[in-house]
This record gives sequence, C-alpha cells and structure tokens, in this order.
Amino acid sequence: MKTFKANQTQIILKQGDITEENCDGIVNAANSSLMGGGGVDGAIHRAGGPEILKECKKIRERQGKLPTGKAVITTAGNLNAKAVIHTVGPIWQGGNDQEKELLKKAYKNSLIIAKENDLKTICFPSISTGAYGFPIEEAAEIALKTIKDFCKEDQCYKEIRMILFSEDDYEVYLNKAKDIFNK
Ligand code: ADP
Repeated sequence: MKTFKANQTQIILKQGDITEENCDGIVNAANSSLMGGGGVDGAIHRAGGPEILKECKKIRERQGKLPTGKAVITTAGNLNAKAVIHTVGPIWQGGNDQEKELLKKAYKNSLIIAKENDLKTICFPSISTGAYGFPIEEAAEIALKTIKDFCKEDQCYKEIRMILFSEDDYEVYLNKAKDIFNK
C-alpha cells in the first residue's frame, strides 16, 4: 500500500480485492446492460448480494442501457460500503475510437455522482483493463490524472483508493502515481 496526496485528498494505492474494502462508495466496472458480468462486476454482485442487481434492474427499466462513460448509483447490499457506483468503461478498439476520453469520463462521472451522494471515501478498480482490453499503462495514467484534476478543483473527498487486483497492475499504477503526484 502506498499513499499520495492530491490537495486535501489522500490517494491510496493498494493491491487487493475491492469487495473487501471498507469505505463509503465502491466503483464497479460494469457493462452497459447493468445485469452483472465477469471480473470485478461479478465479484461485486456475488459479495454484495441480490439487492444490487434488483436496483440495477430498476435503473435499466427506467433509463435503458447505461452508455459508456456514464455512471449510476445503487445500494451496496452486503458490502462494507454505503453505495456502489456502476460505470461503463470503453472497450479498447485500438485507440482511435475515443477510448481515452471515455475512460476519463467513466472516472469523472463516478467522482461526480459519489460527490452528489455525499460519499467521502471511494474505491476504484482498474476500469477497462480486464476483459475490455485497455492497455494498463495508459489506463493508469488516465485514471490517476483524472483523479488528480478532480481533487485540484474540489476537496470533497477524504480518501480515494485505487484497488489493484494483481501485483503487476499495482506496480504499474504505483510507478505512474510517483510521476503524477510527486510533482
Ligand atoms: P473491464 O470489463 O472494465 O475490463 P474487468 O472486471 O474485466 O473489467 O477488469 C477490470 C480490472 O478489475 C482488472 O484489472 C481485473 O483484474 C480487476 N478485478 C477483477 N476482480 C477484482 C476484484 N475482486 N477486486 C479488484 N479488482 C478486480
């Protein structure tokens, strides 16, 4: 685990399973269907229980599929959190299909909706770098820069954690964070 600072917000990088975190908001790398899936999405629904999917279904009925880059919020069910924020990262198509902008939007819109719901500590997984194939180096840079830029403007968060599932992913994020935050 390693801690950085962006304005008044603690930025924590940690290797682990996001479903085991204790915080206000857990971000889910969902897919547009909001009906659950593999990877971190599956893990969150499994650990959080059926209440999460129930709310996702209601959102789906109300507003249809969730577009890439957007975010919605539900209960956290049995997780040690107040809410789950579901966002959809882009599927990597080679880099010329607005993937970078959309990944940035996924982080930013998650930060905005969590703020609107008064969440003070939130945890992110590495959005889009699993099944969606986004190159991890670039994704890490976008994730951390977007978080830093947000914290420059807004001091609403006490703590923002990036939870990296593998040691390799953790190392990539750590190296980027040293560049981005120790300036
Ligand atoms: P996407 O479809 O957005 O790529 P994935 O769930 O396939 O989403 O992968 C996103 C990242 O989440 C990957 O780096 C994957 O290793 C990681 N991941 C999978 N399960 C967990 C978990 N329980 N906690 C934290 N990260 C996880």
